Amino acid sequence: MGYNVAIDGPAGAGKSTIAKLVAKEKGYIYVDTGALYRGLAVHFLDMGVSPEDRTGIIGAVKSADVTIQYEDGAQQVYLNGKNITARLRDEAVGNMASMSSAIPEVRAHLLALQQNMAREKDVIMDGRDIGTCVLPDADVKVFLTAGVKTRAKRRYDELTQKGVACDLAEIEKDIRDRDERDMTRETAPLKQAKDAVLIDSSHMSIEEVAAAIVALCK
Ligand code: C5P
Repeated sequence: MGYNVAIDGPAGAGKSTIAKLVAKEKGYIYVDTGALYRGLAVHFLDMGVSPEDRTGIIGAVKSADVTIQYEDGAQQVYLNGKNITARLRDEAVGNMASMSSAIPEVRAHLLALQQNMAREKDVIMDGRDIGTCVLPDADVKVFLTAGVKTRAKRRYDELTQKGVACDLAEIEKDIRDRDERDMTRETAPLKQAKDAVLIDSSHMSIEEVAAAIVALCK
C-alpha cells in the first residue's frame, strides 16, 4: 500500500499548485483527478454529446479509455491511446467535466483507476471526493478552501498573466455555479471528510499552505 495524501476542495482553491509542491518536496506522485474527468469530457464533446444529454453521456462513457502517464514528471492524459493533455483546460471541456461528473456512471468509470494508482504508489491526489469516497483510508486528508472572491481573483490573475482576456464577475459566477453543482450532486458530493484537516488559504501564501500540508505528512 502506498502512502496516500488526499486533497479536496472547491474550484480555484489552489489544490493543484500546492499538491505539486508537496509532491516535489516529499517525493510523491501527484495525481490530478480533475484531469481524468476532463479527459472523459473531451470524449463526450468529440462524440457530439451535449453537457445536458445525460443518456448520451452514459452511453458514450463506455467507449472511453482514459489513462495517465508521466512524462518528465508531468501528468499526461491519454484518451483511447491518444495524448489529449493540451485540450484539458479548454473552457468547453471544463464545463462538460463539471456537468458530466455529477453522473454516477461517469464517476464509477474512473474509480478503480484512481484507487489502483494509490494502492501501488505514494501519491498526493487532488479532487472533490478523494478523502470521502476514493481513498477513505488515506493517511492524510486535507480540505483546502478559500473565499469565492479570492478564488475568482486568483483565476483572473492567472488568465490575465497568460494574456487571456476575461471578466472577473463572469469567473466568479462560473466558480459559484461549479461549486453548487459539486456540492449538491447526489453521488460523491464535494464535502469535507470528517477526519480531514481544514485549511482556508484566503490569507495564506502558496508556500505557507504547502508547508502546513508537509507538516501533516510522515
Ligand atoms: O479540478 P478540475 O477543475 O480540473 O475538475 C474538473 C471537474 O471535474 C470539476 O468541475 C468537478 O466537477 C469534477 N471533479 C469531480 N471529482 C474529482 C475531480 C474533479 O467531480 N475528484
